[in-house]
Amino acid sequence: MSQVCNPDSFCYVCGEFVVRRYRSNITDYISKCYLKCFGFPIANQDENWVPHKVCKNCQLEFGACAKNPGQVFRRFKIPMRWGKPSDHDEDCYFCRTDTSGYTAKTAKYIQYPTNTSSERPVKHPDKQKSSTSAGGPSRSSTRSTDKPVVYTEAKFKALVRKLALSEEKAQLMKSVFAEHNFLAPKFK
Ligand SMILES: [Zn+2]
Ligand SMILES: [Zn+2]
Repeated sequence: MSQVCNPDSFCYVCGEFVVRRYRSNITDYISKCYLKCFGFPIANQDENWVPHKVCKNCQLEFGACAKNPGQVFRRFKIPMRWGKPSDHDEDCYFCRTDTSGYTAKTAKYIQYPTNTSSERPVKHPDKQKSSTSAGGPSRSSTRSTDKPVVYTEAKFKALVRKLALSEEKAQLMKSVFAEHNFLAPKFK
């Protein structure tokens, strides 16, 4: 297969066309981030049918993931998967993507082929931020929907009798209960 297209004008991770000034090499750092984010390594970097570059957006995303353990790669769930094209006419992702005349500003309108030996990234299922709280303890757990215990005067007196509290201790408990809104509204 002779080389007629330039895979390195595309991002290895998202598969998008990248204008020259936003292309970066795949460094050891990027490789490590990639493995950490997706669970499998960058592959086939010794072949000429995969990009050897990453775009700025993916690079920034890796930076965010590296800083915050547990953060997912937000752009998509599964990155671009590269397969060796059988020919340049029908099966080559790079040849079948028309990038001529696009600039950094208009590159987002480029249409990418979906039926080649390479597969486009798979987006996260409907965006829900729940994944970000997976690591930490839930802050809402202490607040249940159960009604707080409320003591009417009769109920309170029964409790005082049950605990055999002195008048002094009963008053103290009453003030503590009042502080925590345990007393019924009409309680004197
Ligand atoms: Zn990218
Ligand atoms: Zn090609």
